[in-house]
Amino acid sequence: MNREIREAVDILRGSRFVVALTGAGISVASGIPDFRSPAGLWRRFDPAVYASIDRFRENPARAWEMLFEMIAAVDAARPNPAHDALAELERRGLLQCCITQNIDGLHGRAGSRNVIEFHGNLDRFVCLACESRYGWRQYAFPAGEAPRCFACGSVLKPSIVFFGETVPGRALLEGRMFASSADAILVIGTGATVFPAAEIPQIAKNSHAKVIEVNTAPTGLTNYITDVFVQCDAAVALPAIAEGLGEE
Ligand SMILES: [Zn+2]
Repeated sequence: MNREIREAVDILRGSRFVVALTGAGISVASGIPDFRSPAGLWRRFDPAVYASIDRFRENPARAWEMLFEMIAAVDAARPNPAHDALAELERRGLLQCCITQNIDGLHGRAGSRNVIEFHGNLDRFVCLACESRYGWRQYAFPAGEAPRCFACGSVLKPSIVFFGETVPGRALLEGRMFASSADAILVIGTGATVFPAAEIPQIAKNSHAKVIEVNTAPTGLTNYITDVFVQCDAAVALPAIAEGLGEE
């Protein structure tokens, strides 16, 4: 076990309330490229056009071209050992919740129960007109068209947060509450540069939490509020941390 993993384990052993904040980096090993990366969707689909709520309302069929690809990528993905380790830590009572910026639902599929999704989840659709909700797996898509509401015929949108939309208030409140209660926070696969994720490590730090960062490269947090920087793929680091916590 390397020194940083050992330090992380020591901090977590001494903590009573631990939360995790996760971002795109945790799902890369599941086969979902960071949308901003060279292989990511935003290289082909300008998010200002395809992921903006105003542009969606103007032309839902265009946004759905990108969304069908996003759904296919998420559906093909499986939780990786990092998701599994976090679910295991929660089961063992060593982790209180995962706050995530990801829309892939992989924490839930790995077995995590307390997941706060800042940007929603691709598994559910909402009707913009009548607010009817649907699970997409039960829904038969007309190929290549924007899916429509069975109740009113209006176009459906995945219940993910588009640019120009606000993060659900409840997720925001819960995220802040958990962060302010934490005495350790694991920041995994994200530099937490985008609001509201950006405030979560800071809220935890202000409440005297230790910040353990797991990223493959330094971020804006690393020399700023991180106490222990584990420079490693999350799919390797998290199982090692979980194993370390199981040792006497
Ligand atoms: Zn409707």
